[in-house]
Amino acid sequence: MPELLQISQLGHPVLRKKAKLVKNIADKELQRLIDDMIATVIDANGAGIAAPQVYQSHRVFIISSSPSSRYPDDPEIAPMAVINPKIVSHGKEIESEWEGCLSIPGIRGLTPRWKKIKVTYSTRDGKKVSVNYENFLARVFQHELDHLDGMVFLDRLASNKDICTEKEYQKIVSKRKAKSKKV
Ligand code: ZN
Repeated sequence: MPELLQISQLGHPVLRKKAKLVKNIADKELQRLIDDMIATVIDANGAGIAAPQVYQSHRVFIISSSPSSRYPDDPEIAPMAVINPKIVSHGKEIESEWEGCLSIPGIRGLTPRWKKIKVTYSTRDGKKVSVNYENFLARVFQHELDHLDGMVFLDRLASNKDICTEKEYQKIVSKRKAKSKKV
Protein backbone atom coordinates (compact mmCIF):
# COMPACT_ATOMS: atom_id res chain seq x y z
CA MET A 1 0.00 0.00 0.00
CA PRO A 2 1.32 3.47 -0.88
CA GLU A 3 2.05 5.76 2.02
CA LEU A 4 1.23 9.44 2.36
CA LEU A 5 4.46 11.43 2.55
CA GLN A 6 5.27 14.57 4.53
CA ILE A 7 5.48 17.66 2.31
CA SER A 8 8.52 19.88 2.71
CA GLN A 9 7.82 23.56 3.31
CA LEU A 10 9.55 26.66 1.96
CA GLY A 11 12.63 27.34 4.06
CA HIS A 12 13.79 23.71 4.06
CA PRO A 13 17.07 23.44 2.11
CA VAL A 14 15.84 20.42 0.06
CA LEU A 15 13.61 22.83 -1.90
CA ARG A 16 16.66 24.91 -2.88
CA LYS A 17 18.90 22.06 -4.05
CA LYS A 18 19.39 20.89 -7.64
CA ALA A 19 17.95 17.36 -7.74
CA LYS A 20 20.00 14.43 -9.05
CA LEU A 21 19.32 12.65 -12.35
CA VAL A 22 17.56 9.30 -12.01
CA LYS A 23 19.91 6.60 -13.28
CA ASN A 24 17.94 3.43 -12.66
CA ILE A 25 14.24 3.90 -13.36
CA ALA A 26 13.45 0.25 -12.53
CA ASP A 27 14.87 0.72 -9.01
CA LYS A 28 12.34 -0.57 -6.48
CA GLU A 29 12.78 2.35 -4.13
CA LEU A 30 12.17 4.84 -6.96
CA GLN A 31 9.03 2.96 -8.05
CA ARG A 32 7.85 2.96 -4.44
CA LEU A 33 8.57 6.70 -4.20
CA ILE A 34 6.46 7.30 -7.34
CA ASP A 35 3.52 5.34 -5.86
CA ASP A 36 3.80 7.28 -2.60
CA MET A 37 4.03 10.63 -4.41
CA ILE A 38 0.91 9.82 -6.47
CA ALA A 39 -1.01 8.95 -3.29
CA THR A 40 0.28 12.13 -1.64
CA VAL A 41 -0.66 14.47 -4.51
CA ILE A 42 -4.16 12.94 -4.75
CA ASP A 43 -4.61 13.30 -0.98
CA ALA A 44 -3.44 16.94 -1.13
CA ASN A 45 -5.70 17.61 -4.15
CA GLY A 46 -2.73 18.99 -6.10
CA ALA A 47 -2.03 19.07 -9.84
CA GLY A 48 1.57 18.04 -9.33
CA ILE A 49 4.28 17.26 -6.82
CA ALA A 50 8.04 17.04 -7.23
CA ALA A 51 10.37 14.69 -5.33
CA PRO A 52 12.09 17.53 -3.40
CA GLN A 53 8.65 18.35 -1.99
CA VAL A 54 8.77 14.99 -0.23
CA TYR A 55 12.43 15.46 0.84
CA GLN A 56 13.83 13.35 -2.04
CA SER A 57 16.36 15.13 -4.24
CA HIS A 58 15.73 13.16 -7.46
CA ARG A 59 14.63 14.41 -10.87
CA VAL A 60 11.10 13.05 -10.80
CA PHE A 61 7.71 14.65 -10.45
CA ILE A 62 4.05 13.72 -10.72
CA ILE A 63 1.73 15.66 -12.98
CA SER A 64 -2.02 15.40 -13.43
CA SER A 65 -4.75 17.38 -15.11
CA SER A 66 -8.49 17.39 -15.54
CA PRO A 67 -10.87 19.76 -17.33
CA SER A 68 -12.49 22.39 -15.11
CA SER A 69 -15.04 25.14 -15.64
CA ARG A 70 -12.21 27.66 -15.95
CA TYR A 71 -10.13 25.46 -18.27
CA PRO A 72 -12.59 23.27 -20.19
CA ASP A 73 -9.94 22.37 -22.78
CA ASP A 74 -7.48 20.91 -20.29
CA PRO A 75 -6.89 17.23 -20.96
CA GLU A 76 -7.81 14.50 -18.51
CA ILE A 77 -4.54 12.98 -17.36
CA ALA A 78 -4.37 10.59 -14.44
CA PRO A 79 -1.39 11.25 -12.15
CA MET A 80 1.73 10.11 -13.98
CA ALA A 81 5.45 10.13 -13.27
CA VAL A 82 7.79 12.39 -15.23
CA ILE A 83 11.45 11.36 -14.89
CA ASN A 84 14.55 13.35 -15.94
CA PRO A 85 12.45 16.02 -17.70
CA LYS A 86 13.78 18.67 -20.06
CA ILE A 87 12.22 21.57 -21.93
CA VAL A 88 13.56 21.21 -25.48
CA SER A 89 11.96 24.34 -26.92
CA HIS A 90 9.16 26.80 -26.27
CA GLY A 91 6.94 29.23 -28.13
CA LYS A 92 7.35 32.99 -27.82
CA GLU A 93 4.18 33.60 -25.87
CA ILE A 94 4.30 34.08 -22.11
CA GLU A 95 1.15 33.91 -20.02
CA SER A 96 0.66 34.88 -16.38
CA GLU A 97 -1.73 32.87 -14.22
CA TRP A 98 -2.19 32.34 -10.50
CA GLU A 99 -0.16 29.49 -9.07
CA GLY A 100 -0.04 27.91 -5.68
CA CYS A 101 2.34 25.34 -4.23
CA LEU A 102 1.90 22.54 -1.69
CA SER A 103 5.21 23.70 -0.16
CA ILE A 104 4.04 27.32 0.19
CA PRO A 105 0.62 27.06 1.82
CA GLY A 106 -1.69 30.07 1.94
CA ILE A 107 0.11 32.03 -0.78
CA ARG A 108 -0.64 32.53 -4.49
CA GLY A 109 1.40 34.28 -7.16
CA LEU A 110 0.59 35.60 -10.63
CA THR A 111 3.33 33.64 -12.37
CA PRO A 112 4.58 34.14 -15.94
CA ARG A 113 5.26 30.91 -17.88
CA TRP A 114 5.79 29.83 -21.46
CA LYS A 115 2.36 29.07 -22.95
CA LYS A 116 3.66 26.27 -25.18
CA ILE A 117 6.61 23.97 -24.54
CA LYS A 118 8.13 20.90 -26.15
CA VAL A 119 9.47 18.49 -23.57
CA THR A 120 11.20 15.15 -23.21
CA TYR A 121 11.18 12.82 -20.24
CA SER A 122 11.11 9.16 -19.31
CA THR A 123 8.03 7.34 -18.04
CA ARG A 124 8.15 5.03 -15.03
CA ASP A 125 8.40 2.12 -17.49
CA GLY A 126 11.62 3.63 -18.84
CA LYS A 127 10.05 4.79 -22.11
CA LYS A 128 11.43 8.04 -23.59
CA VAL A 129 8.70 10.52 -24.49
CA SER A 130 8.78 13.68 -26.60
CA VAL A 131 5.58 15.71 -26.40
CA ASN A 132 4.12 19.22 -26.76
CA TYR A 133 2.25 20.76 -23.85
CA GLU A 134 0.31 24.00 -23.67
CA ASN A 135 -1.71 26.05 -21.19
CA PHE A 136 -2.33 24.41 -17.83
CA LEU A 137 -0.22 21.31 -18.44
CA ALA A 138 2.69 23.42 -19.71
CA ARG A 139 2.35 25.55 -16.57
CA VAL A 140 2.35 22.60 -14.18
CA PHE A 141 5.31 21.06 -16.02
CA GLN A 142 7.35 24.26 -15.69
CA HIS A 143 6.37 24.67 -12.02
CA GLU A 144 7.45 21.10 -11.19
CA LEU A 145 10.63 21.27 -13.27
CA ASP A 146 11.60 24.40 -11.32
CA HIS A 147 11.35 22.35 -8.10
CA LEU A 148 14.03 20.01 -9.50
CA ASP A 149 16.30 23.02 -10.00
CA GLY A 150 15.77 24.44 -6.52
CA MET A 151 13.31 27.10 -7.61
CA VAL A 152 9.76 27.97 -6.55
CA PHE A 153 7.12 30.08 -8.30
CA LEU A 154 7.94 33.08 -6.09
CA ASP A 155 11.31 33.29 -7.88
CA ARG A 156 9.49 33.77 -11.20
CA LEU A 157 7.24 36.68 -10.23
CA ALA A 158 7.75 40.02 -11.93
CA SER A 159 7.03 41.83 -8.66
CA ASN A 160 6.19 41.17 -5.00
CA LYS A 161 2.91 42.88 -5.83
CA ASP A 162 1.92 39.72 -7.73
CA ILE A 163 1.70 37.79 -4.45
CA CYS A 164 -1.56 37.39 -2.56
CA THR A 165 -3.03 35.29 0.22
CA GLU A 166 -5.28 32.32 -0.49
CA LYS A 167 -8.25 34.27 0.89
CA GLU A 168 -7.74 37.22 -1.49
CA TYR A 169 -7.05 34.80 -4.36
CA GLN A 170 -10.45 33.17 -3.80
CA LYS A 171 -12.07 36.61 -4.09
CA ILE A 172 -10.24 37.29 -7.37
CA VAL A 173 -11.32 33.93 -8.82
CA SER A 174 -14.96 34.32 -7.83
CA LYS A 175 -15.02 37.84 -9.34
CA ARG A 176 -13.63 36.44 -12.56
CA LYS A 177 -16.36 33.78 -12.75
CA ALA A 178 -19.06 36.44 -12.27
CA LYS A 179 -17.51 38.45 -15.06
CA SER A 180 -17.44 35.58 -17.54
CA LYS A 181 -21.10 34.74 -16.84
CA LYS A 182 -22.14 38.25 -17.90
CA VAL A 183 -20.73 37.87 -21.40
ZN1 ZN B 1 5.23 23.58 -6.04
